[in-house]
Formats: sequence, structure tokens, C-alpha cells
Amino acid sequence: MKFSTRAIHTGQEADPTTGATIVPIYATSTYTQEAVGVNKGFDYSRTVNPTRVALEKQLASLEDAAYCSAFSSGMGATNTVMNLLSAGDHVVVGEDLYGGTYRLFSKVYERYGITFSYVDAAVPENVRAALRANTKLIWLETPTNPLLNLVDIASVTALKTAGVLLCVDNTFASPYFQRPLALGADIVVHSTTKYIGGHSDVVGGAVITNDADIAQRVKFHQNAVGAVPGPFDAFLTMRGAKTLALRMREHAKNAGEVARFLAGRSDVAKVYYPGLESHPQYALAKRQMRGFGGMVSLVPAGPVERAMAFARSLKLFSLAESLGGVESLINHPARMTHGSIPKEERERRGITDSLLRLSVGIEDVEDLIADLRQALDTTAELASAKA
Ligand SMILES: *Cc1c(COP(=O)(O)O)cnc(C)c1O
Repeated sequence: MKFSTRAIHTGQEADPTTGATIVPIYATSTYTQEAVGVNKGFDYSRTVNPTRVALEKQLASLEDAAYCSAFSSGMGATNTVMNLLSAGDHVVVGEDLYGGTYRLFSKVYERYGITFSYVDAAVPENVRAALRANTKLIWLETPTNPLLNLVDIASVTALKTAGVLLCVDNTFASPYFQRPLALGADIVVHSTTKYIGGHSDVVGGAVITNDADIAQRVKFHQNAVGAVPGPFDAFLTMRGAKTLALRMREHAKNAGEVARFLAGRSDVAKVYYPGLESHPQYALAKRQMRGFGGMVSLVPAGPVERAMAFARSLKLFSLAESLGGVESLINHPARMTHGSIPKEERERRGITDSLLRLSVGIEDVEDLIADLRQALDTTAELASAKA
């Protein structure tokens, strides 16, 4: 079966007890057992819940994978991958990554005796150079947040030594546009809060793999640590994911038009979008992804005040954290999503104070472009002010 058919059917057979066509929200913490040790495979909802099981089957199928564990947030999913490591282990991290992931690594897991090397993974050789005898994990995001750089997953797979797991945070591309497992990754992590849920109404995460041993260890920690989604959250995420393909096609179409519009403006200093031919990794994007996604970053010309005034002048793009919902959002990475990265480190990576990130929604693109145009025009005077 193909992508959308699986999104709508996998794990979602009619309910065995009632015939309900849509998987019910099994709001129960416990299950009545026939006798001690005799049950229908369900004993306690931290361990297993039918609504969550349906979501896990659906999400596994979207990555062409055998196993999925669902979590109460993307960070819960990331944390559980980190639970597979032990004190003394080393991790190589693509440095351009989600601020909350950086915070978890630097503020929590460093205290636990795990060490991290941050490298520019857009050059795979940098990953190889950082590998040590005690390296157990390579952690990548691609496209990266917020600069939309790409990492060549297959090249990193090729240089990985025995005993090193490769985990890819696939949140930005979504499984519709990119399948890291097929390129050799061992584990895929998602913040389902974003494109998979798709409607900015539920927080969740997932860990997906084809490796039975990894899957079993992740399940163990899912139950042992307990960052599980409730059945209501599982239901909402599952409902969102049914339309992932439709939404992603619209996100990418709109984002491409928005990126081309911005690139054509002389008062926009920089546009970052993997679908622009001017993107330094355009060829890799075409090879590695089935579409270029819905995220566009830009630097309006002029001083920081211009960027701020531009963001404030937008009417359809809400100033908000997060991404991947049907509605368009604008974010100021330096002070919002990436505020937990020290300023010096941010600037070194190109996350300047004037950088803005758009999550291009699926509204009519003419309206989105009209909004961007009026916000650029009304702040144009500030563009020529000295930076
Ligand atoms: C949002 C996000 C996360 C964290 O997910 P939550 O659901 O907010 O916990 C991780 N990685 C990326 C790329 C994200 O955008």
C-alpha cells in the first residue's frame, strides 16, 4: 500500500468490540483481567493502550518501518533515545539543531557523564573526524532548524563505525518527504507536534526503527520512564496524520512560492530554502527528499529593528513558537526557539538577531504573499538604516 492509504488504514481497523470505524479513544488507565495473568494483552495504560497502539502502527508505517513508540512530546522521544546510552558514552551531534535538543544534551545529559561533540555535519567528513572509541550515537537533523542546511544521510551512514547508532530527527521534512531509515539511519525521531499532528492542537513525539533490539529497548524505557501520550492525544495525532500527504504537498508548494517571492525582493538580504536553486545543497535536496518542505527562513535587509517591525506588521503569520500546522507562523529564533543557545554560539552558526523563520501554512498562497509584501513595504524605510 502507498503512503496515504497506510496513513488512513494502518493500525486503524474497525474496533473489534463495537465495529466503530474510527479507533476509539480508550480512556482507561487499567484493564479488567479474567484471572491473574489472563488478559487481552492490556494491563496498564502507561505500558500499553489501544489508541496509542493504533497511532504507533500508523506512524511506523509512514516511515516504512516495523516499530514505533509514541511519546507525550518530541523531547520525550529524544530523551528516550538518550536513555539507551550510559555514562562514559560519547555522541556526535550535527550542530545546527533544535534548541530544546541542545538544552537536553548540554544541561541534562552532560551531568550524567555523557559527552558531546558538535560538528558542522553538512560536511560528512567532520562527523568522521569527531568519532571516538566511545562514540555510541550520531544525532542529526536535516533540513536543519532554522537555517535549512542539509546533511547527506547516506554519506554519514557510510562512515559510521560498528556499534554507532545513527538517529535522525525527521521533524522538518516529515516522512512524506524524507525516509532516513531507507538511507541507513537506525532510528528516526519525530516531534509529532509539528507536521504529523499538523493542526497545532496536540504535543507528541515518536521513536521509529526497523531494528527489533532497538525497538525493544525503546519500549522498555517508554514504560520505565513513562513519557507516554494519553489516548486523547494519540487520537488527535492519528487524525492529523491521515492528511499528512495532502498537507505536505500544499506546504511545499506554498513555501516554494514564498521563497521565490522573497528571493526576488531587493530589501530581503537572505532567503534560506532547500528548493531554491541558489541553495548550496539544492542537488542533495533533490536527491534526498521527495519535496522541499514548508519552512523558509529569511533575513530582511537592514538593522534588527527592521526585522522586528516586519514580523510585527504581518497579519496572517502569527508570531509563535512551533511549526508545521495548517496556519502560517513566524518565529524569531534568536529570542524564541533558539534562546537557550548562547549568543556567541548562535552568531557563529549564522543564527543572527535579524534571522526570521517562517512556517508556511496551507492558506491560499496569494494571501500569504500579499501579507509578506505589505509587511516588507511598510517597513522598507528601516531597510536602508545602518545595520
Ligand atoms: C519541536 C521540535 C522538537 C521537540 O518536540 P516537542 O514536541 O516540542 O517536545 C524536536 N525537534 C525538532 C526539529 C522540533 O522542531
